[in-house]
Amino acid sequence: RGKWRRVVRVLKELEEACETSVGRLKQVVDAMAVEMHAGLASEGGSKLKMLLTYVDNLPDGNEMGTHYALDLGGTNFRVLSIQLQGNRSSILEHDVERLPVPQHLMTSTGNDLFDFIASSLKEFIDKGNDSEVLLGGKRDLGFTFSFPTKQNSISSGVLIKWTKGFSIGDMVGKDVAECLEQAMTSKGLNIRVTALINDTVGTLALGHYHDADTVAAVIIGTGTNACYLERTDAIIKCQGLLTTSGFMVVNMEWGNFWSSHLPRTSYDIDLDCDSSNPNDQGFEKMISGMYLGDIVRRVILRMSQESDIFGLGSSRLSMPFVLTTPLMAEMHEDGSLDLRDVARILKDTLGIPEVSLKTRKLVVRICDVVTRRAARLVAAGILGILKKMGRDGTGGVTGTRSRSDVNMKRTVVAVEGGLYTNYTMFREYLHEAMVEILGEEIAKNVILKVTEDGSGIGAALVAASHSSNY
Ligand code: ADP
Repeated sequence: RGKWRRVVRVLKELEEACETSVGRLKQVVDAMAVEMHAGLASEGGSKLKMLLTYVDNLPDGNEMGTHYALDLGGTNFRVLSIQLQGNRSSILEHDVERLPVPQHLMTSTGNDLFDFIASSLKEFIDKGNDSEVLLGGKRDLGFTFSFPTKQNSISSGVLIKWTKGFSIGDMVGKDVAECLEQAMTSKGLNIRVTALINDTVGTLALGHYHDADTVAAVIIGTGTNACYLERTDAIIKCQGLLTTSGFMVVNMEWGNFWSSHLPRTSYDIDLDCDSSNPNDQGFEKMISGMYLGDIVRRVILRMSQESDIFGLGSSRLSMPFVLTTPLMAEMHEDGSLDLRDVARILKDTLGIPEVSLKTRKLVVRICDVVTRRAARLVAAGILGILKKMGRDGTGGVTGTRSRSDVNMKRTVVAVEGGLYTNYTMFREYLHEAMVEILGEEIAKNVILKVTEDGSGIGAALVAASHSSNY
């Protein structure tokens, strides 16, 4: 009896610390909009970096021709091409090739890495028989480079630092687009890097190509990030910024968002302390696929220290990241009466033998609390962006118009990432929170649309829409 009382107390504490009432979510919405303002006002003005992308027009479906893209973001890299017919409804034909980056190249020299990339592109083009390039004609290429860079224009940017296991000293501080172009030239390829972008920008571009009401993009996968279309005159930290459209895509780097209104638990604090980047990416650590499973593991560990409902303790339970988010989702969504998937995962993954049904239900409950909080925070984050854009149905920051005056525009947010697309409960909680915050009527105007492969196809599209040939 006493042991259950202790366990229930741990659960109650978790639920209270993860509380996301509509009132609290609205504070997060406001905090996101305020931080966006601050990050646009001055360099370092907020934990939100609000990086300029120099992407000032998005593909609208009229683009023509063949365009290439390279996507380098981790252990794999991809080459692809698209053919466009100038009619939005036409199917994008694309060929994709995914190649592992040889381990030794991740720590060798910039020359070696880019020589490898250019060779792979050359082979891809040879195979595809693009006679235009083979005869020396010009093509455009979009380069998705998912490492922190400081952009100086749409087609140039300097590497700030490597992440994800890459470490090539002679590249830091260099213009990555220039390095790629040199390597391509030495292979005899007359290809220009027309666009250097990150993956969220690609997602926004792909979303906009299909639907012109798309104004923001969010990625919710292993990590999380967002970008949106901002008025250039609102980008105060860059005075005199002029674009023909009057707009520019801003890369928020929202994984680093922080606010005192975020519902934080002792598990979040411990996870952050144990991480390789403490005090960094605070929002991401409560939300993304890399972390959700580990928060659940920490709660179970705590309960197993308070009582013996999980048996006599398992050493696997102390191993960081053994419980991945897909496994957590499987437990959460176990539809069997005796929760046999929960039992299997507890046993196989966490080394916890046969537990009572009551205990299995408790585990499902923990998964639910952690995922619900994450999904609702993402909803608040998205609505923070829309509030900043004056598209949350309140009629802008002054917000004094009565409800009947509100002329809410149809607003589409492109969404990508395995957490959102594969985890049904996460997706449902996210949508539910949007309706709770906005109200049913206004929520009808906000549409989340899944795009696929924005980081690849989107880069080729941005290259197309910024191409001088077009
Ligand atoms: P990445 O973000 O690594 O580029 P994805 O967008 O495909 O790639 O996201 C993969 C992430 O999505 C995984 O790390 C995992 O956390 C999460 N994920 C994938 N499948 C599921 C699932 N079935 N349930 C919950 N989360 C999942």
